[in-house]
Amino acid sequence: MPQFPLPEIPGKKLGWAIVGLGRLAVSQILPGLVEAKRSRLAAFVSGSPDKAKRLAQVYGLPEKGIYRYQDMERLASDPAVDVVYVVLPNSMHAEYTIRALKAGKHVLCEKPMANTPRECEEMIAAAKTANRKLSIGYRLHYEPYNQALVKIARDTAEMGPTRLILAEAGFSIGDPTQWRLRRAMAGGGSLMDIGIYALQAARYLAGTEPTEVNAQVSSTPNDPRFTEVEENVTFQLRFPGALVANCTSSYGVGVNRFRVCKPNAAAELDPALSYSGLRMRVFRNGGIEERQHPAIDQFQTEMDHFSGCIQDGTDTATPGEEGLRDLRIMMAIYESARSGKPVALPS
Ligand code: NAD
Repeated sequence: MPQFPLPEIPGKKLGWAIVGLGRLAVSQILPGLVEAKRSRLAAFVSGSPDKAKRLAQVYGLPEKGIYRYQDMERLASDPAVDVVYVVLPNSMHAEYTIRALKAGKHVLCEKPMANTPRECEEMIAAAKTANRKLSIGYRLHYEPYNQALVKIARDTAEMGPTRLILAEAGFSIGDPTQWRLRRAMAGGGSLMDIGIYALQAARYLAGTEPTEVNAQVSSTPNDPRFTEVEENVTFQLRFPGALVANCTSSYGVGVNRFRVCKPNAAAELDPALSYSGLRMRVFRNGGIEERQHPAIDQFQTEMDHFSGCIQDGTDTATPGEEGLRDLRIMMAIYESARSGKPVALPS
């Protein structure tokens, strides 16, 4: 055997360890990895050995690729694993991200990045210390309909300047005992889970950072789902110039729409944040035009983007700093709702 490092095989796929085999991992991420071009399944980290074994059989993962949460540190000596994807409840994101970084792996962490800005800062610092990359699971940054709406929003030549953004994200949440409705695990209610998409859309469509937020929180009285966390948040973001975003977050109703409004035209996605079946409509000159864009596997694209960044030495489009910005704004949204006053956002 050669005693010196051999060059990488061109086009080699990076090995991914999936931490947490819940609904998202099983229904989206694992199927997405099968067809990925620069990423492949290399390990599971799970607290359920039976589930992990069964999924390992389905996806052809050898049993030695199955780790328990408590032995995650052993990933450090597993050369098959390059990247760790943290798909756990929100309160566990910081701990598992930092442990994976300390094991020398790059990390993709699901949204929201963590429950507090302080945890996000610790995650960013851990990535710097380990000299590894950290990306956040903001899949819509890599999605063609959303990318096309960003182009329309920021382009003044075709339809004029954007004056108003409407962003609505919500669904009717079920089981009142689930972790999403426990403050300690979720960090908050609909805003942390689904309203974060409306906040993200407002920011990426505006292409600038908001300077002030004003917010209101409401929950249906005596609904057992909302004893610890909020059901609805409505919030308005002011951007430099006259641009305003009006945003809705809900655990009570299904809303799924981003709309960019210009003086004599508008463009919208509805649905805007589903995994598939997105639609774009442009409203102009009294008519409605439907625009088609490529339908992609959002998780596969997101994972391949990150593998590419690692292989090519480029920056991820959704780094930890992006997750931290959202956490800071979400804390200001809660503060505004509590105080009943607008809250200025530091530049
Ligand atoms: P889930 O409840 O289905 O899965 C959570 C996993 O964590 C399960 O495997 C569970 O066994 C494990 N777990 C370990 N310790 C736990 C504990 N103490 N309590 C509860 N579960 C524990 O959740 P999910 O829907 O897969 O969400 C996981 C993460 O992914 C969340 O951060 C969520 O915000 C994010 N998510 C992102 C998207 C997206 O579109 N990007 C979609 C859904 C979920």
